[in-house]
Amino acid sequence: MKNFEYQNPTKILFGKDQIESIGNEIPKNAKVLLLFGGGSIKKNGIYDQVTSALKEYDVVEFGGIPANPEYAVLMEALSVIKEQKITYLLAVGGGSVIDGTKFLASAALYKGEAPWNILTQNIRTTEGMPFGTVLTLPATGSEMNSGAVITRAETKEKLAMGGPGLFPQFSVLDPTVIHSIPKRQLVNGVTDAFNHVLEQYMTYPVNALLQDRIAESILQTLIEIAPTVINNPKDYKAAADFMWSCTMALNGLIQKGVPTDWAVHAIGHELTALFGIDHARTLAVIAPSHYTYNFETKKEKLAQYAERVWNVTEGTLEEKAKAGIAKTEAFFKSLDIDTKLSDYTKDYKGTAQEISKRFTDRGWNGLGEHQNLTPADVEKIVEMAY
Ligand code: NAP
Ligand code: FE
Repeated sequence: MKNFEYQNPTKILFGKDQIESIGNEIPKNAKVLLLFGGGSIKKNGIYDQVTSALKEYDVVEFGGIPANPEYAVLMEALSVIKEQKITYLLAVGGGSVIDGTKFLASAALYKGEAPWNILTQNIRTTEGMPFGTVLTLPATGSEMNSGAVITRAETKEKLAMGGPGLFPQFSVLDPTVIHSIPKRQLVNGVTDAFNHVLEQYMTYPVNALLQDRIAESILQTLIEIAPTVINNPKDYKAAADFMWSCTMALNGLIQKGVPTDWAVHAIGHELTALFGIDHARTLAVIAPSHYTYNFETKKEKLAQYAERVWNVTEGTLEEKAKAGIAKTEAFFKSLDIDTKLSDYTKDYKGTAQEISKRFTDRGWNGLGEHQNLTPADVEKIVEMAY
């Protein structure tokens, strides 16, 4: 195991009716900006629960944060924060609303000129405006980590940011929120969380037995609960395991002491920026190609994954490793998630060259756990995913 530091300050309030408790977490003299998305919370009762819990507070609302939180919309919210002298942010939504709120937490205290520079210049946020979250969609893990991904339609960019100042102070995880989630978003959630674990696990083998076992247990849990969650979102037991698996997949724990990859996410973000494909689906497109392209460096781990997660017992190490990739792709397909770029757009020609050029322009010359994947390698991986 490699040396590591681990600190995660986010307080989790897990379970039914926990939304009622948010008043215990927010300072009573706070001026709160309640941030939400396109309106699902007004139809499923979550908005009513949140506003009832905030009765005693001075609250301003900002709705309309779109999926893949858009910079231009967030800049409108930033004006509200400044005009209304907001002191506390409350995100009520999925990864998009939470990530948008993290951007605002950073931008609200940012002293530089254009807040977009936080993303392009990789500025780490050490102090942000305090915020909490009420998670409405298990998927991203954003509710217990300090990262965010922001989109700018004008330039077709989708860039990541983060820093220790961007952990939520608290997050409410009430599994009953999944009752109203459309199937498309439920399968996205399973797929995103699954890929988060793979990005932190499917690297070269290291001597970190516990990290491997925790990662494998999250993958196995996601595989086991997926059919129930999709067919019966009211099954509380499955919903609870789903929600906690998604949080555990990206709260920093399983990446400690081990190498992490993240190339699948880096490439996937470009597919969302260029074509608007749902985040999780871009990962299902890129992951099989990525693991096939990097087979030689990852094959021991792929074989271990096939054995332990998919019970593949027959064959040589190479055969097991290949079976691991095939099982992964079949799992995404079993969720009705397409795994080729051409399934999403007929306009895919030239995409590999465009992404490779973008990475070159940004100086992203070494992706993956060995930092040795060049833009030329990225071009080949994307071409394999057509
Ligand atoms: P999302 O974009 O937050 O939400 C997708 C859709 O689900 C929205 O239309 C939303 O509707 C709806 N929805 C949410 N909760 C619902 C509920 N309880 N009932 C009915 N509909 C509901 O989806 P997401 O997958 O959670 O977030 C994706 C974003 O997170 C991407 O931008 C991705 O890049 C980013 N991400 C971040 C991290 C991280 O660590 N920070 C990791 C992975 C991905 P409304 O808008 O109407 O509410
Ligand atoms: Fe993700």
